[in-house]
Amino acid sequence: MPAAQHPSSVDLADRLKVLARSCDVVVRRTLSPSLIEVVLHGDGVALAGVPGNDVMVQVDNGEGTLVRRRYSVHGVDPGADTLSLWISTTHDGPARRFAQALAPGDVLDVVGPRGKIPLDDPADWHLFVGDVSALGVFYRMAHSIKVPGRAIFIVELDDPADALTANFDDGLGVTAIFVDRNGRANDDPAGLLNGLAAFALPQGEGHAYLFGEFHVVRTMRSALLDRGLDSATISLKAFYRVGRANGANGEPEKEP
Ligand SMILES: Cc1cc2nc3c(=O)[nH]c(=O)nc-3n(C[C@H](O)[C@H](O)[C@H](O)COP(=O)(O)OP(=O)(O)OC[C@H]3O[C@@H](n4cnc5c(N)ncnc54)[C@H](O)[C@@H]3O)c2cc1C
Repeated sequence: MPAAQHPSSVDLADRLKVLARSCDVVVRRTLSPSLIEVVLHGDGVALAGVPGNDVMVQVDNGEGTLVRRRYSVHGVDPGADTLSLWISTTHDGPARRFAQALAPGDVLDVVGPRGKIPLDDPADWHLFVGDVSALGVFYRMAHSIKVPGRAIFIVELDDPADALTANFDDGLGVTAIFVDRNGRANDDPAGLLNGLAAFALPQGEGHAYLFGEFHVVRTMRSALLDRGLDSATISLKAFYRVGRANGANGEPEKEP
């Protein structure tokens, strides 16, 4: 199966001042109709960085070319030296096929930690908006909120059984609005807009984190600006873009 550390990964990690590691797959399991979990062993704590960070995994695109794909870290287990990824399986793509075929004992080429959107610690409340591909990182970020604090999730799901639950500290206020996709396209923001409209933003200073489809995260940003949030308190990251494969560096295209 997958190859160990590629020389280009070592160069890339040097340039980015992060780590390049060969990680062993210790678990690959189905979590829900749209999510699998992959647990990787080897420098898990250092690769995982801070809540909100992701790692780059090298995969074969099926045509003999190696490409990188980014996956946010869901969990870290310092004792076991592992990190876990929650990977969406709702589309057809090389990395999705690669992830579904993984088995314990496979070795992955991993570069990390990556990402520029950590939790805004001082905020009174944290609003997480996105689709199922962001559920894992949303839960990791919410777990790092200091109590008393507040986490609000507005997440669009392809299947009601994707509404995986998480245990949070007593004292953390948690509101979750799971929106059924109901067959809408992944670049249709209607479901998340309805979810947001159903929710009165709390008092105090809040921070919104928008992760998911390129057009959807932009529309949700505009909706939150209309609701009175300051642009400095809205962090967005496009994870993918409908109709276009992510680039070899793992990023969705930004051009029109
Ligand atoms: C910083 C960052 C963090 C990310 N974290 C996660 C994560 O934690 N979990 C996760 O599942 N994904 C995450 N992603 C998204 C993941 O990297 C992409 O979905 C990736 O493009 C999948 O690669 P692929 O080779 O399977 O599909 P690609 O070759 O990139 O795309 C093939 C086709 O599938 C479509 N597509 C790709 N991804 C999706 C999707 N999720 N839903 C619907 N259609 C899609 C594309 O529009 C395209 O038409 C993250 C992306 C970034 C940039």
